[in-house]
Amino acid sequence: MSPQRPIYLDCNATTPVDTQVLAAMLPFFTDYFGNPSSLNHAYGWEAEAGVKRAREIVAAAINADPVEIVFTSGATEANNLAIKGVAEAYMAGGKHIITVQTEHSAVLDPCRYLESLGFSVTYLPVGADGLISLSQLAQAFRPDTILVSVMAANNEIGVLQPISEIGQMCRDRQVIFHTDAAQALGKVPLDVQAMKIDLLSMTAHKLYGPKGIGALYVRRRNPRVQVAPQLHGGGQERGLRSGTLYTPQIVGLGEAVKLAVEERADMAEKLGGLRDRLWHHLSGLSGIYLNGHPTQRLPNNLNVSIEGINGADLLSQLRSEVALSSGSACSSANPAPSHVIKALGRSDQLARATLRFGLGRSTSAAEIDQVGKAVSEGVRSLRS
Ligand SMILES: *Cc1c(COP(=O)(O)O)cnc(C)c1O
Repeated sequence: MSPQRPIYLDCNATTPVDTQVLAAMLPFFTDYFGNPSSLNHAYGWEAEAGVKRAREIVAAAINADPVEIVFTSGATEANNLAIKGVAEAYMAGGKHIITVQTEHSAVLDPCRYLESLGFSVTYLPVGADGLISLSQLAQAFRPDTILVSVMAANNEIGVLQPISEIGQMCRDRQVIFHTDAAQALGKVPLDVQAMKIDLLSMTAHKLYGPKGIGALYVRRRNPRVQVAPQLHGGGQERGLRSGTLYTPQIVGLGEAVKLAVEERADMAEKLGGLRDRLWHHLSGLSGIYLNGHPTQRLPNNLNVSIEGINGADLLSQLRSEVALSSGSACSSANPAPSHVIKALGRSDQLARATLRFGLGRSTSAAEIDQVGKAVSEGVRSLRS
């Protein structure tokens, strides 16, 4: 690795694998390499023991039962399985889905795909603070609504939607409720019973676990949720997700979730303080706007739009000092304005001049002070 790399503040995009997570994974590549479905010999049992332990940890983290956890390749696959799987299983009872304009593309694109198959989808707007309106949600339900999908925490602006209230509204109407919790898990408390969540997507690489592994929680009782499999084959994961289980990655997901849950409260306090410190540095600039609700947001996320600058110019100016992204996933020379920032009612110009700061475990106050100074100076020099 090069000695002088920029400060990493892109933890809403991905995080490094924790060394403790890696240590837990390694024996499952070499020693415990058996197929966890091979239950006729010790090699299979060893691998299965690792998978079982991870399944228990992941289930406990969200107050679920281990049999309700389906391992997937990440949150994209979990969202696809939840949305397309429910659509297919329940289409005889209705073909209407409700979601939100600010969802991740891994929710929006499956919904658009279903529209092409004849489903109808309501994309709820958000207010200027990024929150949906519960009365607008109430009005959106139709007799043929089968699914509501609302993310727990937004990946660009960190906004936390009122998941408990949405869960109750869905339960009252006997509509299935899915939440994409890729950003929320390990950052804010999640309880599928108390919040009346029927399906929940997660991914390891946003919480110091490996890339390429995640899970979908599928409620088995009160009500028993049906999901049509999207991958057919050996019948692993109770038939919901065929394919030989990726044992080392599953063990890594379990270990990462365990650590994230253990340190959640302390980390939220630390990162929330550093995030506020960063905003304190930046809010001295004129024409800077905080995107998303000021308090109902992830502790590790700050997202701002800055008037009168070109976002791509600012990012390239800062590149050697800090690793950041703009609001949108695309960070080409002329990025398309983010659909999330646009949904807040910001102009195209402001949506293009957006910076997303994703703080992580190792972020220090000294780094925040350095970044605050670098961004302020960068803005001033681009404006002059
Ligand atoms: C990262 C992310 C995803 C995609 O997760 P992968 O595991 O990379 O497929 C989906 N939804 C949200 C909210 C995310 O932050």
